Amino acid sequence: MGLDGTFHILTLGCPKNRVDSETVISLLTRRGLRHVDDSADAGTVLINTCGFIQDAKKESIEEILDIASRKADGQRIVVFGCLAQRYAEELKRELPEVDAFFGVNSHDDILGYIETESPVPAHAGQGARPPAPYAYIKIADGCNRGCSFCAIPAIRGRFASLPPEHIVQQAAELIDSGVRELVLVAQDTTSYGREFRGYGLCELIEDITSIPGDFWLRLLYLYPSAVDERLIETVAGNDKVCKYLDIPLQHSEDRILGLMRRKGSRNVYSALVGGIRSKIPDVTLRTSFILGFPSESDKEFRALLDFVREAGFERLGAFTYSREDGTAAYGLGDDVPEEEKERRYHELMMLQAGISLEKNRSMLGSVVRVLVDETDGDVAICRYQGQAPEIDGVVIVEHTGSSVRKGGFIEVEITEAYDYDLKGEPV
Ligand code: SF4
Repeated sequence: MGLDGTFHILTLGCPKNRVDSETVISLLTRRGLRHVDDSADAGTVLINTCGFIQDAKKESIEEILDIASRKADGQRIVVFGCLAQRYAEELKRELPEVDAFFGVNSHDDILGYIETESPVPAHAGQGARPPAPYAYIKIADGCNRGCSFCAIPAIRGRFASLPPEHIVQQAAELIDSGVRELVLVAQDTTSYGREFRGYGLCELIEDITSIPGDFWLRLLYLYPSAVDERLIETVAGNDKVCKYLDIPLQHSEDRILGLMRRKGSRNVYSALVGGIRSKIPDVTLRTSFILGFPSESDKEFRALLDFVREAGFERLGAFTYSREDGTAAYGLGDDVPEEEKERRYHELMMLQAGISLEKNRSMLGSVVRVLVDETDGDVAICRYQGQAPEIDGVVIVEHTGSSVRKGGFIEVEITEAYDYDLKGEPV
């Protein structure tokens, strides 16, 4: 934190990393340190890294090198998170510009390091950023699923739920501070409460949504075979829960799913999608797929495209397969050439762009409730329940009224539809 008690935090990777960064920001600001938006103005730059797949590792290292190349006299660089956990020794050797490395779940160590290294001056703590109207809440860490391609269990350890009282209290504090959308995240959100008798994700949803106030609750990272009738009914029957389910399927074809060590099959997934749509007719379904898994044939890829056409996911993300050290799939090789993985990726995303545009067009003329994330002059960046923050599109609203303010809910009529975004007018 140098002598001026300022810090900047750069977060790479998924929303779970974002939660960790928010926790570190909260710990440091409570100690009187000041967060700044530009790394050049910071006494300490913290980089929360991602080590999930090759591209993420590359991005993390490039960002560290970029920050290191601009390191000012007296500035400190602290690297933490998944990449630092996984490759601590190599990184220490290769990146001497970095002053300290910490793994995952090391908030207290980071705090201790910073408190030791940088006394807080009297003026610190001023100028806190206005909060975003949405916030992530981590409800568990680690994962026991053992998907063959995934390094997460090795990095983050066994699944462990956070205590419900802690989560509900955090939710209440966030709502009290003006947050209007809570996003529950974990590596495997559906396993929440597996250590507790008779208390799981549905009970947690009920407890959080019992908090008084006008807010949305959103669920991300649901494991497909654990999305059961009860969870679907809980989402369907609770006005505060976004009619939005994020269920990464990773593939549709049985042979590949078997190699991935994922539960379920094409038929099971089709039935799941159909069951959800029949119980929650206005649901937005998000999923993600891995392309170019070892031995994935062109025929299997085409079958995946057919599955995507049939299921008509409103939102879809895709990754090209990345062979990771220490995973069960490592021994399967990596026989699909990178160019072919990229080709499959683009073909799938082209298909999805068309599906998404069609779904967006079907909303023309409808009136939806949106949350205003940002305002800039007469333009507001908003989202309806079917759009998760940071990963999905937005509703752009041009307005002249003062009733449109950041963190408020407004009703808008959808007037224009694009591949991923919508435009609307206040009604
Ligand atoms: S569910 Fe599978 S892909 Fe997700 S974190 Fe766990 S092991 Fe990794």
